[in-house]
Amino acid sequence: MTVRYLDLQALNAQFEPALSRAVTDVVGSGRYLRGEQVAAFESAFAHFCGAAHCIGVGNGLDALTLILLALKEEHGWSEETEVLVPAMTFVATALAVSRAGLRPVFCDVTRDALIDPAAAEQAVTPHTRALIAVHLYGAPCPPLPLQTLCQKHGLAMIEDAAQAHDATSADGQRVGSIGLAAAFSFYPGKNLGALGDGGAVCTNDAVLARRIRALANYGAEVKYEHQWLGLNSRLDEVQAAVLLTKLPRLHEETLHRRAIAARYAREIVTPAVSLPYEGRTNESVFHIYPLLCPQRDALKAHLQERGIETLIHYPLPLHCQPCYGGSSQAHYPTAERIAREELSLPLNSTLSEAQVGAIIEAVNSFSGHTTLSTQ
Ligand SMILES: *Cc1c(COP(=O)(O)O)cnc(C)c1O
Repeated sequence: MTVRYLDLQALNAQFEPALSRAVTDVVGSGRYLRGEQVAAFESAFAHFCGAAHCIGVGNGLDALTLILLALKEEHGWSEETEVLVPAMTFVATALAVSRAGLRPVFCDVTRDALIDPAAAEQAVTPHTRALIAVHLYGAPCPPLPLQTLCQKHGLAMIEDAAQAHDATSADGQRVGSIGLAAAFSFYPGKNLGALGDGGAVCTNDAVLARRIRALANYGAEVKYEHQWLGLNSRLDEVQAAVLLTKLPRLHEETLHRRAIAARYAREIVTPAVSLPYEGRTNESVFHIYPLLCPQRDALKAHLQERGIETLIHYPLPLHCQPCYGGSSQAHYPTAERIAREELSLPLNSTLSEAQVGAIIEAVNSFSGHTTLSTQ
């Protein structure tokens, strides 16, 4: 048996023929930007997230960048302004800060790869103005400690929800309406994926929403009158139609993902690995199922030999990325440990029971003592 990490063709085939019909309808409509599909999706997604406003944009990186640019304008932040970012996340979280002309300051994470509120508090300086809570792997950051911290130090709390559509924290707060504004990505492999790039900002702040919409539209609210140095970042009608077709089934898919995660949690018994979230399986939407294993590379090879494809999220913490200075002095031990030990098992709605069983059996057959020919 072979199991691919993610088969997008099979994933999207589940939505046929409605998906192709939605695309064809847009082709025939003659309207490809700023039309009905985008407006309908924005309103449906805002409702889904429990947010008052949703702005469709070009991708997740732009969504984060636009939130930061809008706040920078609103508050007159300088180039010295610092934004707290977890050291373990996809690079886009920090790139958005850099692209907005602000300074990312890295903080260590908890064992679940979520920004550590204590580490974040230690990193606060007189220049700190914002914190990005990344709901990494689909698990919501516990909101209360971060909300308290942000309130105490006057920081804007921004959510990077690119991996966490449909997640709700244990205390009932919905991802997308926990912070001042939230960024989503609809990259094809995300839990809600388009057939290309796409993104959105959700917020309850009407002023911020208006500014973000203008910034994404060349800095103009009125055509040909450009108040800000904006950019062009739009969700297009084809992608909006695709997302409108897929959104109604997102929660069902979340439940399916959780059922697979629950089976992994029950049936993976080898002491060679440790499982995520220790029983808190009803918060994460499991964009990624992250195992930790000290012999990670050997486990990856062991699974590959049995036809099971896995990925690593992510092999380098941000402070070790060449674009952020490479091997800087700073030491973020938990982020570094996750980079060394994390392995992502396949987890999505196209997997059969037999495939999930094969993955479990293959992981359990790894003793951790195998001396494989190292890769
Ligand atoms: C995917 C992702 C992004 C960026 O989204 P794009 O649509 O690819 O630009 C940002 N942050 C995280 C955590 C992501 O996983």
